[in-house]
Amino acid sequence: MNTKLTLAIQKSGRLNQGTIELLNLCGIKISNGSNHLKALAEGFPLEVLLLRDDDIPQYVADGVADIGILGFNEVFEKGKDIAIIRQLGFSRCRLSIAVPRNVDYTGRQWLNGKRIATSYPEILKKFLNENGMNADIHPISGSVEITPGIGMADAIFEIVSSGGTLLSNNLKEVDVILKSEAVLVSNKSLESTKKELLNKLEFRIEAVQKAQRNKYILLNAPNNKLNDIIKLIPGMKSPTVLPLAIDGWCSLHSVVTEDDFWDVIGSLKAAGAEGILVVPIEKMVI
Ligand code: ATP
Ligand code: MG
Repeated sequence: MNTKLTLAIQKSGRLNQGTIELLNLCGIKISNGSNHLKALAEGFPLEVLLLRDDDIPQYVADGVADIGILGFNEVFEKGKDIAIIRQLGFSRCRLSIAVPRNVDYTGRQWLNGKRIATSYPEILKKFLNENGMNADIHPISGSVEITPGIGMADAIFEIVSSGGTLLSNNLKEVDVILKSEAVLVSNKSLESTKKELLNKLEFRIEAVQKAQRNKYILLNAPNNKLNDIIKLIPGMKSPTVLPLAIDGWCSLHSVVTEDDFWDVIGSLKAAGAEGILVVPIEKMVI
Protein backbone atom coordinates (compact mmCIF):
# COMPACT_ATOMS: atom_id res chain seq x y z
CA MET A 1 0.00 0.00 0.00
CA ASN A 2 1.27 3.46 -0.82
CA THR A 3 1.69 5.48 2.35
CA LYS A 4 0.52 9.07 2.31
CA LEU A 5 0.99 11.85 4.79
CA THR A 6 -2.12 13.64 5.93
CA LEU A 7 -1.58 17.39 6.17
CA ALA A 8 -4.07 19.70 7.89
CA ILE A 9 -4.15 23.28 6.61
CA GLN A 10 -6.46 26.24 7.11
CA LYS A 11 -9.42 26.10 4.75
CA SER A 12 -9.56 29.85 4.21
CA GLY A 13 -8.14 32.84 6.02
CA ARG A 14 -4.84 34.50 6.70
CA LEU A 15 -2.75 31.32 6.64
CA ASN A 16 -4.23 29.81 3.52
CA GLN A 17 -2.38 31.80 0.84
CA GLY A 18 1.09 31.47 2.41
CA THR A 19 0.53 27.75 2.91
CA ILE A 20 -0.51 27.14 -0.71
CA GLU A 21 2.43 29.26 -1.95
CA LEU A 22 4.94 27.33 0.16
CA LEU A 23 3.55 24.00 -1.04
CA ASN A 24 3.69 25.22 -4.66
CA LEU A 25 7.34 26.21 -4.25
CA CYS A 26 7.93 22.69 -2.91
CA GLY A 27 6.46 21.30 -6.14
CA ILE A 28 3.14 20.35 -4.53
CA LYS A 29 -0.14 21.41 -6.14
CA ILE A 30 -3.41 21.12 -4.28
CA SER A 31 -6.62 20.57 -6.18
CA ASN A 32 -9.71 21.55 -4.29
CA GLY A 33 -12.30 22.15 -6.98
CA SER A 34 -15.25 22.21 -4.64
CA ASN A 35 -15.55 23.20 -1.06
CA HIS A 36 -14.66 19.83 0.46
CA LEU A 37 -12.92 18.88 3.66
CA LYS A 38 -10.37 16.81 1.75
CA ALA A 39 -8.15 17.66 -1.19
CA LEU A 40 -5.58 15.67 -3.12
CA ALA A 41 -2.09 16.85 -3.79
CA GLU A 42 0.00 16.38 -6.93
CA GLY A 43 3.77 16.09 -6.69
CA PHE A 44 3.93 14.45 -3.25
CA PRO A 45 2.12 11.55 -1.52
CA LEU A 46 -0.07 13.87 0.48
CA GLU A 47 -3.71 14.04 1.48
CA VAL A 48 -4.84 17.47 2.59
CA LEU A 49 -7.50 18.26 5.19
CA LEU A 50 -8.98 21.76 4.97
CA LEU A 51 -9.97 22.89 8.46
CA ARG A 52 -10.48 25.88 10.73
CA ASP A 53 -7.10 26.67 12.22
CA ASP A 54 -8.52 26.23 15.75
CA ASP A 55 -9.13 22.54 15.03
CA ILE A 56 -5.71 21.70 13.58
CA PRO A 57 -3.89 21.03 16.92
CA GLN A 58 -6.55 18.50 17.98
CA TYR A 59 -6.53 16.70 14.60
CA VAL A 60 -2.74 16.41 14.74
CA ALA A 61 -2.68 15.36 18.41
CA ASP A 62 -5.27 12.62 17.65
CA GLY A 63 -3.32 11.44 14.59
CA VAL A 64 -6.27 12.11 12.24
CA ALA A 65 -3.80 14.43 10.54
CA ASP A 66 -0.09 13.51 10.67
CA ILE A 67 1.15 17.05 10.23
CA GLY A 68 -0.32 20.55 10.09
CA ILE A 69 0.45 24.14 9.18
CA LEU A 70 -0.90 26.89 11.45
CA GLY A 71 0.06 29.94 13.47
CA PHE A 72 2.33 29.39 16.48
CA ASN A 73 -0.14 31.50 18.50
CA GLU A 74 -2.87 28.89 17.93
CA VAL A 75 -0.52 26.01 18.80
CA PHE A 76 0.43 27.76 22.05
CA GLU A 77 -3.17 28.62 22.91
CA LYS A 78 -4.47 25.08 22.41
CA GLY A 79 -1.58 23.50 24.36
CA LYS A 80 -1.93 20.07 22.72
CA ASP A 81 0.86 17.52 22.87
CA ILE A 82 2.23 17.97 19.33
CA ALA A 83 5.73 18.60 17.98
CA ILE A 84 6.74 21.89 16.37
CA ILE A 85 8.93 20.88 13.44
CA ARG A 86 9.96 24.24 11.99
CA GLN A 87 9.08 27.89 11.53
CA LEU A 88 7.78 28.77 8.10
CA GLY A 89 8.29 32.54 7.95
CA PHE A 90 4.84 33.70 6.79
CA SER A 91 1.66 34.99 8.55
CA ARG A 92 3.85 36.90 10.96
CA CYS A 93 1.93 38.75 13.65
CA ARG A 94 2.14 39.55 17.34
CA LEU A 95 -0.16 39.15 20.31
CA SER A 96 -0.29 42.39 22.23
CA ILE A 97 -2.02 44.23 25.01
CA ALA A 98 -3.92 47.28 23.75
CA VAL A 99 -5.73 49.92 25.78
CA PRO A 100 -7.90 52.98 24.93
CA ARG A 101 -5.74 55.77 23.56
CA ASN A 102 -6.37 58.13 26.49
CA VAL A 103 -5.22 55.58 29.10
CA ASP A 104 -1.91 56.25 30.84
CA TYR A 105 -0.46 52.72 30.76
CA THR A 106 2.23 52.82 33.37
CA GLY A 107 3.51 49.27 32.90
CA ARG A 108 2.28 45.71 33.19
CA GLN A 109 1.06 46.17 36.76
CA TRP A 110 -1.62 48.48 35.34
CA LEU A 111 -3.39 45.30 34.18
CA ASN A 112 -3.88 44.06 37.76
CA GLY A 113 -7.59 43.73 38.53
CA LYS A 114 -8.64 45.01 35.07
CA ARG A 115 -11.09 43.39 32.65
CA ILE A 116 -9.24 42.08 29.57
CA ALA A 117 -11.09 40.78 26.51
CA THR A 118 -9.25 38.26 24.34
CA SER A 119 -9.60 35.36 21.97
CA TYR A 120 -6.43 33.90 23.52
CA PRO A 121 -7.46 33.29 27.17
CA GLU A 122 -4.91 30.52 27.82
CA ILE A 123 -1.89 32.53 26.63
CA LEU A 124 -3.13 35.54 28.61
CA LYS A 125 -3.65 33.44 31.74
CA LYS A 126 -0.10 32.10 31.45
CA PHE A 127 1.31 35.59 30.95
CA LEU A 128 -0.56 36.99 33.96
CA ASN A 129 0.52 34.05 36.15
CA GLU A 130 4.15 34.39 35.14
CA ASN A 131 4.04 38.07 36.10
CA GLY A 132 2.21 37.39 39.36
CA MET A 133 -0.85 39.37 38.27
CA ASN A 134 -4.58 38.86 38.41
CA ALA A 135 -7.13 40.12 35.92
CA ASP A 136 -10.67 39.39 34.87
CA ILE A 137 -10.32 37.55 31.54
CA HIS A 138 -13.25 37.83 29.10
CA PRO A 139 -12.89 35.17 26.39
CA ILE A 140 -14.42 36.43 23.11
CA SER A 141 -14.15 34.74 19.73
CA GLY A 142 -14.27 37.75 17.40
CA SER A 143 -14.31 41.57 17.18
CA VAL A 144 -12.35 41.84 20.42
CA GLU A 145 -11.26 45.37 19.46
CA ILE A 146 -14.74 46.84 19.99
CA THR A 147 -15.05 45.68 23.62
CA PRO A 148 -13.35 48.65 25.36
CA GLY A 149 -15.46 51.11 23.34
CA ILE A 150 -18.72 49.54 24.51
CA GLY A 151 -17.61 49.40 28.14
CA MET A 152 -17.13 45.66 28.29
CA ALA A 153 -13.37 45.63 28.91
CA ASP A 154 -10.56 47.93 30.07
CA ALA A 155 -7.98 46.39 27.76
CA ILE A 156 -7.67 43.75 25.07
CA PHE A 157 -5.11 41.05 24.32
CA GLU A 158 -5.23 40.37 20.60
CA ILE A 159 -3.42 39.80 17.29
CA VAL A 160 -1.84 42.90 15.81
CA SER A 161 -0.09 43.13 12.46
CA SER A 162 -0.31 46.66 11.02
CA GLY A 163 -2.22 48.17 13.93
CA GLY A 164 -4.93 49.60 11.64
CA THR A 165 -7.80 47.86 13.45
CA LEU A 166 -6.56 49.20 16.78
CA LEU A 167 -6.38 52.73 15.40
CA SER A 168 -9.91 52.65 14.04
CA ASN A 169 -11.16 51.51 17.46
CA ASN A 170 -9.29 54.23 19.34
CA LEU A 171 -6.87 51.79 20.91
CA LYS A 172 -3.10 51.80 21.25
CA GLU A 173 -0.72 48.86 21.47
CA VAL A 174 1.20 49.04 24.74
CA ASP A 175 2.88 45.67 25.25
CA VAL A 176 3.92 42.90 22.84
CA ILE A 177 3.51 39.57 24.64
CA LEU A 178 4.14 36.97 21.92
CA LYS A 179 5.49 36.98 18.36
CA SER A 180 4.04 34.44 15.99
CA GLU A 181 4.46 33.02 12.49
CA ALA A 182 3.21 29.94 10.67
CA VAL A 183 4.78 26.68 11.85
CA LEU A 184 4.85 23.08 10.67
CA VAL A 185 3.63 20.74 13.40
CA SER A 186 3.55 16.97 13.63
CA ASN A 187 1.97 14.16 15.59
CA LYS A 188 4.50 12.90 18.11
CA SER A 189 4.27 9.20 17.22
CA LEU A 190 4.43 8.98 13.44
CA GLU A 191 5.15 5.50 12.05
CA SER A 192 8.53 5.15 10.32
CA THR A 193 7.26 5.30 6.71
CA LYS A 194 5.43 8.54 7.50
CA LYS A 195 8.50 9.91 9.24
CA GLU A 196 10.48 9.27 6.06
CA LEU A 197 7.89 11.18 4.06
CA LEU A 198 8.02 14.04 6.54
CA ASN A 199 11.82 14.13 6.17
CA LYS A 200 11.40 14.37 2.39
CA LEU A 201 8.90 17.19 2.74
CA GLU A 202 11.21 19.01 5.18
CA PHE A 203 14.08 18.63 2.71
CA ARG A 204 12.00 20.47 0.11
CA ILE A 205 10.94 23.18 2.56
CA GLU A 206 14.57 23.62 3.61
CA ALA A 207 15.64 24.08 -0.02
CA VAL A 208 12.92 26.69 -0.59
CA GLN A 209 13.73 28.56 2.64
CA LYS A 210 17.46 28.59 1.89
CA ALA A 211 16.76 29.92 -1.59
CA GLN A 212 14.59 32.67 -0.10
CA ARG A 213 17.37 33.69 2.28
CA ASN A 214 20.02 33.86 -0.46
CA LYS A 215 20.67 35.69 -3.74
CA TYR A 216 22.77 34.78 -6.74
CA ILE A 217 25.30 37.49 -7.46
CA LEU A 218 27.29 38.17 -10.66
CA LEU A 219 29.89 40.88 -11.08
CA ASN A 220 32.88 41.96 -13.14
CA ALA A 221 36.28 42.49 -11.52
CA PRO A 222 39.79 43.37 -12.64
CA ASN A 223 42.06 40.35 -12.21
CA ASN A 224 44.32 42.15 -9.76
CA LYS A 225 41.37 42.68 -7.34
CA LEU A 226 40.15 39.12 -7.55
CA ASN A 227 41.55 37.81 -4.29
CA ASP A 228 40.04 40.63 -2.22
CA ILE A 229 36.65 40.17 -3.85
CA ILE A 230 36.62 36.39 -3.43
CA LYS A 231 37.07 36.89 0.33
CA LEU A 232 33.90 39.03 0.41
CA ILE A 233 31.68 36.50 -1.42
CA PRO A 234 32.99 33.03 -0.62
CA GLY A 235 29.67 31.43 -1.72
CA MET A 236 28.79 27.80 -1.05
CA LYS A 237 32.22 26.35 -1.83
CA SER A 238 33.98 29.12 -3.73
CA PRO A 239 32.87 31.60 -6.39
CA THR A 240 32.92 30.69 -10.08
CA VAL A 241 35.50 32.77 -11.97
CA LEU A 242 35.15 33.15 -15.76
CA PRO A 243 37.38 35.21 -18.06
CA LEU A 244 35.79 38.20 -19.82
CA ALA A 245 36.35 38.85 -23.55
CA ILE A 246 38.66 41.75 -22.67
CA ASP A 247 42.08 41.18 -21.14
CA GLY A 248 42.67 41.63 -17.43
CA TRP A 249 39.02 41.20 -16.37
CA CYS A 250 36.85 38.33 -15.17
CA SER A 251 33.29 37.63 -14.11
CA LEU A 252 32.59 36.28 -10.63
CA HIS A 253 29.46 34.29 -9.70
CA SER A 254 28.54 33.53 -6.11
CA VAL A 255 25.78 33.44 -3.45
CA VAL A 256 25.12 35.98 -0.69
CA THR A 257 22.62 35.86 2.15
CA GLU A 258 19.88 38.45 2.29
CA ASP A 259 20.98 39.48 5.81
CA ASP A 260 24.37 40.90 4.88
CA PHE A 261 23.47 41.71 1.30
CA TRP A 262 23.70 45.53 1.47
CA ASP A 263 26.93 45.49 3.49
CA VAL A 264 28.51 43.09 1.02
CA ILE A 265 27.45 45.15 -2.01
CA GLY A 266 29.08 48.24 -0.50
CA SER A 267 32.31 46.38 0.24
CA LEU A 268 32.35 44.84 -3.25
CA LYS A 269 32.12 48.25 -4.93
CA ALA A 270 34.83 49.60 -2.67
CA ALA A 271 37.03 46.61 -3.58
CA GLY A 272 36.70 47.38 -7.31
CA ALA A 273 33.73 45.27 -8.46
CA GLU A 274 31.61 46.60 -11.36
CA GLY A 275 28.41 45.63 -13.13
CA ILE A 276 26.95 43.86 -10.11
CA LEU A 277 23.80 41.81 -10.85
CA VAL A 278 21.70 40.16 -8.16
CA VAL A 279 19.08 37.55 -9.06
CA PRO A 280 16.70 35.39 -7.03
CA ILE A 281 17.35 31.69 -6.44
CA GLU A 282 14.45 29.27 -6.75
CA LYS A 283 15.79 26.21 -4.87
CA MET A 284 19.02 25.72 -2.99
CA VAL A 285 20.51 22.39 -1.87
CA ILE A 286 23.90 22.41 -0.21
P1 ATP B 1 -10.47 30.12 11.00
O1 ATP B 1 -11.73 30.36 10.27
O2 ATP B 1 -9.59 29.13 10.28
O3 ATP B 1 -10.65 29.80 12.45
P2 ATP B 1 -9.43 32.63 11.99
O4 ATP B 1 -10.46 33.67 11.77
O5 ATP B 1 -9.27 32.03 13.34
O6 ATP B 1 -9.63 31.48 10.89
P3 ATP B 1 -7.37 34.17 10.58
O7 ATP B 1 -7.81 35.56 10.81
O8 ATP B 1 -7.50 33.59 9.21
O9 ATP B 1 -8.00 33.17 11.66
O10 ATP B 1 -5.86 34.05 11.06
C1 ATP B 1 -5.20 32.83 11.07
C2 ATP B 1 -3.81 32.99 11.65
O11 ATP B 1 -3.06 33.88 10.83
C3 ATP B 1 -3.76 33.60 13.04
O12 ATP B 1 -3.93 32.65 14.07
C4 ATP B 1 -2.36 34.18 13.06
O13 ATP B 1 -1.39 33.18 13.28
C5 ATP B 1 -2.22 34.67 11.63
N1 ATP B 1 -2.68 36.07 11.50
C6 ATP B 1 -3.79 36.60 11.98
N2 ATP B 1 -3.92 37.90 11.67
C7 ATP B 1 -2.85 38.20 10.96
C8 ATP B 1 -2.41 39.38 10.32
N3 ATP B 1 -3.11 40.50 10.37
N4 ATP B 1 -1.26 39.32 9.64
C9 ATP B 1 -0.55 38.19 9.58
N5 ATP B 1 -0.93 37.02 10.17
C10 ATP B 1 -2.05 37.03 10.85
MG1 MG C 1 -9.52 30.28 14.01
